[in-house]
Amino acid sequence: MRLRTVELLRLALDLRFALRTSAGEHAHRPLLVLRVTTVDGATGIGECSALAEPTYTEEYADGAEAVLRDHLIPRLLADGGPSSAAAGLRRLGDVRGHAMAKAGVEMALLDVELAETGESLANYLGATRSSIPAGANVSLGAPSSVVAEVRSVVADGYRRVKIKIAPGADVAVVRAVREAFPDLALSVDANGAYDLEREEHRVALLDLDEFGLTCLEQPLAPGELVASAELCAMLETPVILDESIVRQSDFETAVVLSALDGVSIKPARLGGLIAARAMHDRARVLGLMCSIGGMLESGIGRAASIALGALPGFDLPGDLGASDRYFVPDLTEPHVLVDGELTVPNGVGLGVALDEETIARTTVRAQLFE
Ligand code: MG
Repeated sequence: MRLRTVELLRLALDLRFALRTSAGEHAHRPLLVLRVTTVDGATGIGECSALAEPTYTEEYADGAEAVLRDHLIPRLLADGGPSSAAAGLRRLGDVRGHAMAKAGVEMALLDVELAETGESLANYLGATRSSIPAGANVSLGAPSSVVAEVRSVVADGYRRVKIKIAPGADVAVVRAVREAFPDLALSVDANGAYDLEREEHRVALLDLDEFGLTCLEQPLAPGELVASAELCAMLETPVILDESIVRQSDFETAVVLSALDGVSIKPARLGGLIAARAMHDRARVLGLMCSIGGMLESGIGRAASIALGALPGFDLPGDLGASDRYFVPDLTEPHVLVDGELTVPNGVGLGVALDEETIARTTVRAQLFE
């Protein structure tokens, strides 16, 4: 593999609905797309899934665009470019953090490398399933509106639903959904909104334990691993961590502290698919649960996450839904729901056909690096 060019596209996508969480509302979806070409004419594509604002983790789209433009892409292309995807990633190692930006580079490099070897990403990662159960994420809201939204996604064919919660919008909401859907695989995600030092928060988290939830995701702030261990000991419901775990060492620390029962694995948050696969493998060895997480990816990143989610250790409901839940049209041929499942792409590389017209129409800025 000899890289010839890297193109960095800044897109502005409209979400079909604004996703409200305890950490704010995602109404618009800025997206960074990387296209790479080799001297032999192979092409690869990747996306950087950083969101508009630095409210999920520190990363956000404008910052990711700057670090890609000024630091990551120049390192990648220096001295004639890398000889492999792995060599390309090593070139980025001296830049600290910026997991989502690096994950975008990795996705494009893997896509182009697999184009040369003729292998699918799913096969490369070790996927063992041809489809994965889809999940629907439902916004924070009042009980009646959340029940109506759950009813709508269940009618669309989703059999696994995750509700965003926050202090004051939790127990009554979950009770109402449970009464309407006693057998639904239901989980909740607080995006770090609870403080175990506050009595009313502690009481609400204990009250959530009676609803047979599949899991309680990221109840406490990302750094609160000691408190998370205390909470794990208090609850029957499995506690899984998302924002707390941005690198393998965070995971190992959480394991030593018994601060989690499982982990939400998102390649963007973890710096790429290879790091995400390593965490999956380690979780399996430790007997911990895994959920494939979502970052409001376009069809490009969604294809990669579906492939990863087909690994054998993903035993908890995941976040990934069909394209039409978020984007119409998507940047690729749509990922569609079939019997509540998403098909794992089996074409070469990411294995999805791009919708070039939609990519062109939503691109607001393009920069070419040679
Ligand atoms: Mg989450």
